[in-house]
Amino acid sequence: MKTFIYPGSFDPLTRGHMDIIWRASSLCDRLIVAVLKNNSKEAFFSPEERVQMAQLCLLPFSNVLVCSFDGLLVDFMQEQKAAAVVRGIRSESDFRYELELSATNRLLYDKYESFLLPARQDYAIISSSIVREVASYGGDISAMVPEQIENIIKERFSPNN
Ligand code: ADP
Repeated sequence: MKTFIYPGSFDPLTRGHMDIIWRASSLCDRLIVAVLKNNSKEAFFSPEERVQMAQLCLLPFSNVLVCSFDGLLVDFMQEQKAAAVVRGIRSESDFRYELELSATNRLLYDKYESFLLPARQDYAIISSSIVREVASYGGDISAMVPEQIENIIKERFSPNN
């Protein structure tokens, strides 16, 4: 049973993330979408909200499960007996960051492995931060996020919230 982990903030999940999940889930038996609870970036949505939104979008994927995690990725990987970590690459700066991340993780765990999947060209400009920015001005986010969570995101940014 080959398990991969796709870690990230998913603040919120976007169509770019969905594309990586769809592609990565066909390369393994089980894909764990791991929502980072504490990271250096201050998240807008709570870990529970981020997990719930991801679960809503990922229901049709029978070999994908969503959970949140705290602490070191290499510890979580070993706990889950995961063979590799999946990351998406949108740009040269993503690539540089991933090289550093994988080198650091390999120092901590010598069996660390990662798959870097290039973003689909038309999704490469999508990021969670752009989604939050557009939503905060009441703009149309339908091309950027899965339809299952579009309204949840809009409501969180509505002036009544
Ligand atoms: P992190 O805080 O770990 O960067 P993100 O939720 O922003 O978390 O991203 C998780 C992973 O998904 C990262 O590898 C990131 O590069 C990748 N990713 C983000 N947006 C896209 C996209 N539009 N297309 C492909 N990969 C993406």
